Amino acid sequence: MNDNNKKIHIFRSEVKELLHLMIHSLYSNKEIFLRELISNSSDAIEKIRFEKLYNPEKYTKNLYIPKIQISINKKEKKIIISDNGIGMTSQEVIKNLGTIAKSGTKSFLNQIQNIKNKEKNEFIGQFGVGFYSSFIVSDIVSVYTKHASNKTKYGTLWISKGKGEYSVETVHMEEYGTKIILSLKPSEQEFLENWKIKQIIKKYSDHISIPIEIENYDEKTKTISWEKINEAQALWTQNKNNITKESYQKFYTYITHDTEKPLIWSHNKVEGKQEYINLLYIPKKATWDMWHRENKHGLKLYVKHVFIMDEATQFLPNYLRFVKGIIDSQDLPLNISREILQDSAVTHILRKTLTKRILKMLDNLSIQNNKKYQKFWNIFGLVIKEGIAEDSENQKIIANLLRFSSIQTNNKEQNLSLKKYTENMITEQKKIYFITSDSYKSALNSPHLEIFKDKNIDVLLLSDKIDEWMMNYLTEFNNIKFQSVSKADDSLEKLISTKNNDNNDNELNNFIAKIKKILNNKIKDARITYRLKNTPAIVLTDSNDMSTQMAKIFSAAGQPIPKIKYILEINPTHPLIKKIKKVKNEQEFSNWIELLLEQSILAEKGSLDNPHIFINRINKLFIL
Ligand code: ADP
Ligand code: MG
Repeated sequence: MNDNNKKIHIFRSEVKELLHLMIHSLYSNKEIFLRELISNSSDAIEKIRFEKLYNPEKYTKNLYIPKIQISINKKEKKIIISDNGIGMTSQEVIKNLGTIAKSGTKSFLNQIQNIKNKEKNEFIGQFGVGFYSSFIVSDIVSVYTKHASNKTKYGTLWISKGKGEYSVETVHMEEYGTKIILSLKPSEQEFLENWKIKQIIKKYSDHISIPIEIENYDEKTKTISWEKINEAQALWTQNKNNITKESYQKFYTYITHDTEKPLIWSHNKVEGKQEYINLLYIPKKATWDMWHRENKHGLKLYVKHVFIMDEATQFLPNYLRFVKGIIDSQDLPLNISREILQDSAVTHILRKTLTKRILKMLDNLSIQNNKKYQKFWNIFGLVIKEGIAEDSENQKIIANLLRFSSIQTNNKEQNLSLKKYTENMITEQKKIYFITSDSYKSALNSPHLEIFKDKNIDVLLLSDKIDEWMMNYLTEFNNIKFQSVSKADDSLEKLISTKNNDNNDNELNNFIAKIKKILNNKIKDARITYRLKNTPAIVLTDSNDMSTQMAKIFSAAGQPIPKIKYILEINPTHPLIKKIKKVKNEQEFSNWIELLLEQSILAEKGSLDNPHIFINRINKLFIL
């Protein structure tokens, strides 16, 4: 081979952007470059192990035990990291080290501009653009790599200064694998110390299952030797009793790149019909892409301790997508593909038991450590709510996990459980009352709540977008039915009915009859209510009709909705109603009635179909 095969390539624009960002903002935690490179080497070794198991003829014989080796060249100011993993073909080098394949890169880059420096590196780590972090400390990065299926004596050399371009050329290479040479910046010479490198590896990579060795040079005998730095036994395969809290936490950081410690975890070795080990973590924070539906979430899958795939989504329902960890099955075949995994009976059983285990873990947390649970709820509550609709089988336990704001907690933070709510119900109360609205404030101030406040009956205040949808699926809790306070409800009328039952009051009956005549087909019904205090009138939807909040969600999504006909309820004790009752002029009277309906709809919906008519009407009544 001669030198003429060298080709210059330009980085894709998102890589350039990312490189720039990283080099300029990740100084505070620059040592992560080592974690990232070791993690890539470890992935590559796990890949070739796996490939060789069911495709042995395709690959060169493995002469060496899989390992990652690090040497330091103080004189030339270089760190060299090599592995005998699967390596890359020349096309793969260009694809993997010249572009970012991950979907959502653009939105990621936009998001990261707005983040505090301190959190940036974490973000980057989670995004998994690890390789480029080598440019934080290096002036030049050279990658020698040869794919394990390549039986020639040539591999690929990739070189870049991390600016706009990189070069790719064919070079002589005997063994497959990857060797990365970092030419350190003058300011980063601290990484040329053996102890420093060892310290970083202990910190981040102690529990990866592949041995990491560092080169020691003996000045006297002028010989080199290799020293193993990490424990190199997969954490989850070890006996629970021998694993420290710190080890669990470090391992979490290793698999998630989340620098924050996990909230809780559950490590189980199960033997019997199904044999498997799971190590599941609940994070403290949401990942940047929790709401990106197109991005994969899931567990790392191992079969008989061999790594099979990342982000195996099949083992958890979507509403538990924030859970991180590992599942290591004895029962699945090694050569399993994502498609087969999807339909496998083993997968279905595992998914069921893991789901229950996680829900149980959360339930226990809520009982044993409410403060911790509250933290969890504040971050992941919205996702858990999806479970109510998604997982009817586990609805009961999910309902236990829900937390709400209510009139009586008087707190925007959702911290009231349904269990507590039902314990605090007044004796005559037969239902769990709730209201859905656009915001906590508008829920709290809704006129629907007046009577409940008055009678000391608590009402759940629901203002998350998903709530209306969730309440369609959540119909009861411990055999107690849910009831929207903005819907017609006979049991409420009974509950609040006072002695002055005015059904026989002729004057009021006439008044209502006149209202019905005026509003005619604009409303479904009109009636007297005693549920109001400071409000003259409200509108309700009939018990089987679509709620206002649901209609809003539908129309925001561009879906057709049937026109809602409301029930108008009048508060006979309100001074305005008393005044209107006395109005003699028919024209004026009907203007007042129309106004009552319009203002009630405005309070309910937050908008009117035709605000002009409403304003004109008010003005007219003002001038009178
Ligand atoms: P990620 O690891 O999240 O995919 P990286 O930027 O760390 O992102 O690496 C990009 C890709 O480059 C990897 O997915 C892998 O395909 C390839 N790669 C990096 N390092 C190695 C290595 N040592 N051996 C083989 N392939 C590697
Ligand atoms: Mg990586």
